[in-house]
Formats: sequence, C-alpha cells, structure tokens
Amino acid sequence: MIEHYGWSASLAETFEPHAQAGHTPGRVILQQRDGYVVATDDGDVRAKVSGRLRHEAKEIGHPAVGDWVAVSPSEKERTATIHAILPRRTAFVRRAADSMRKLQILAANVDVAFIVTSLNADLNLRRIQRYLAAAWESGARPVVVLTKSDLCDDPQAQAASVVALDPGCPVLMVSARQGQGLDALLAQVGRGETCVLIGSSGVGKSTLVNAFLNEDRMATQAIRENDDQGRHTTSHRQLVLLPNGRLILDTPGIREVGLVDAEAGVSAVFEDIEGLLPNCRFTNCSHGSEPGCAVQIALQGGTLDPDRWAHFQKLTLETTAAEHKQERAAKAAERRRLGALQKVYRATKRNDRGAAD
Ligand code: GDP
Ligand code: ZN
Repeated sequence: MIEHYGWSASLAETFEPHAQAGHTPGRVILQQRDGYVVATDDGDVRAKVSGRLRHEAKEIGHPAVGDWVAVSPSEKERTATIHAILPRRTAFVRRAADSMRKLQILAANVDVAFIVTSLNADLNLRRIQRYLAAAWESGARPVVVLTKSDLCDDPQAQAASVVALDPGCPVLMVSARQGQGLDALLAQVGRGETCVLIGSSGVGKSTLVNAFLNEDRMATQAIRENDDQGRHTTSHRQLVLLPNGRLILDTPGIREVGLVDAEAGVSAVFEDIEGLLPNCRFTNCSHGSEPGCAVQIALQGGTLDPDRWAHFQKLTLETTAAEHKQERAAKAAERRRLGALQKVYRATKRNDRGAAD
C-alpha cells in the first residue's frame, strides 16, 4: 500500500531505526490546521506531532504534505503520533518573513515541478524564471508547461523564448481542451514519483489535474473521518494517486510558490548571493578574477555552493538575453502589424476610389 506512495528499499533502510523503535512508516497526504492525515499500510490515519518532534521542528520545519514520517498508532484516541520525519530528498521551503530561521515547508519529496503558464496571454519570462528558481532551489526537476495551445496561433515562437531561459529544462505544450500533449507531460514523471503544478491562477492547473485523473477528483478521493467532536467530516487529499502509478501534490501553498516574493524576483530565492554582491571591492565586479570579490571568497571558503552560484548566474544572464530576444520579436511583430494595416488602408482607398468612379 505505501509502495503506491513511492516507498522504496532505500527509504526502508533509512527507516530501520524507527522500525526497531516499533514505529510504522507513512506518508503525509493531508495537512490540516489541527493535524495531519498519514497514509500507512493500515490505511489513512489522523496524526499529531509528538512533543519532541514539535521541538525539533524549529530546525527542520513541521511535517508537510509529501513527508515520509514515523508514526505510532494509538488505539484509544484513534489518532496516531508522528515521532520523526525522514530526511527530505527535496523540499519547497518558505522562510517566514519575520525570521530567516523559521522554516515553513510547503511540500516535501517532490520529484517533478511542472511550471504552468498559458499560451493565450503574454508570456511573463520573469515569472517563469522565478518559478524555475524556486524549483531548482527545492531539488525537484522543473518542466515548463505551456497550456491552452488551442488558443495560440504561433505556440512554437513562445516555446522558443522559454527554451532560451534554460536550454536544459524541458518545455512542453498542451491543450487540455483538445486532449493534446498530456501523455508527454506524464512521461516526465516516473512510477511512484510525485509531481506538483505551480503557476498563477487561471493558467489551467485544475483542468490538468482533472485530465490526469480522468474523473472528478473531489468526488473520488475524499477522506471520510470523524473530527474530535465525533462529527463526520470529509476532506480532500492533497497528495493524490493518479491512475497510472504517479502522484500529484496539490495544495494552495505549493500552487503559488513562485508568487510569494513576486516583487523580489530571483533575489527571493538567492537572497544570500544577492547579499554578497555589494561586498565586492569593485562595483562593476564580474565575480571572476578581480581582487576582493566577495563571491570568490565565499566560494573558496565553502560558504557558497558552486552549483547555486552557477544557477544564479545562469538565471540572471539568460533572462536578460531572453528578454532582449523577446523585445526584438515584439518589435518585428509590431512592424508586421503596421505593414498589414497599411495594406488594408491602401486597399480601402482603392475601393473608395472605385466606388466614386
Ligand atoms: P487554474 O486556476 O490554474 O487551476 O486554472 P483552471 O484549470 O481553473 O482553468 C482556467 C480556465 O482555463 C478555465 O476556464 C478552463 O476551462 C480554461 N482552460 C484550461 N485548459 C484549457 C485549454 O487547454 N484550452 C482552453 N481553450 N481553455 C482551457
Ligand atoms: Zn565580485
């Protein structure tokens, strides 16, 4: 049963000490204000965090949807206790505004982040870049999805400007309405892997989830339970099993992950790096071989991860290039539009003359 949720031999190995302590493995499928629902081999159980884990959570964050946890079911209260969180392979993290040290985990153990944007509106490359940064930061593989291809005359041109942002990231086009491109999308997710859809509201995320499910998810994947007062309630899974053995994690928090710092752009995700730059000796430092370069010092001192620095450079450089390209494309389109208008204008004039004759 937990195999469906992606349980593996290597997770079992990590879990060994917890198994020896008599605990059961499970995956968090729903987070509520007053607790969690955890999928285990004995079915879905309501669970609360142990006092000790609550204390540890100051450092590792509270359990989040997608987390693998160690639980001990308790018969009489019908509520299990979460004792530990297994190390997260990936995590979408938000730092509380008031304190850099307070971590809020939006989603854990996500393998693929679909960055969703629609082709019927102008592409916002900055926003896509922000989502890309958030995905990289989490450790998930980003895949850009351009939706509503049925509403766009020249989807290839739009796709090309996104490919320019990051040549290593797949860019796929879909039309949920025409049922096109959905298989290619799901092919990005392996069996037992978890994906998320992130992007602004209205781009077609719910439509995609429903297309993946081939049915109405609200109706089929509800969790029936009794609340503390014994009332019967229904809630919806936030970690949903797809018919083909994939999983989709869907919460309001994760959907809008890139919008959290809408104004701050890349700096929201690369705050530490942006903080370094003003410390370079020269204001026009290219962070190469200049003396007194704060970036090189951090890299050599091991306080800045070279991969993160590479991503940061890639993002900042390539967006600028992509924006220039988009600007040129927009200017060319404007010239074509004016040319076409002129043709229409001349034709009308000819017709007017013809009518006057
Ligand atoms: P969300 O806010 O991102 O979850 O977006 P929704 O899934 O609610 O979709 C927003 C609107 O776009 C709805 O009216 C959908 O019917 C429409 N929509 C979604 N996918 C497509 C598509 O492939 N083609 C067209 N033409 N419309 C779509
Ligand atoms: Zn520098």
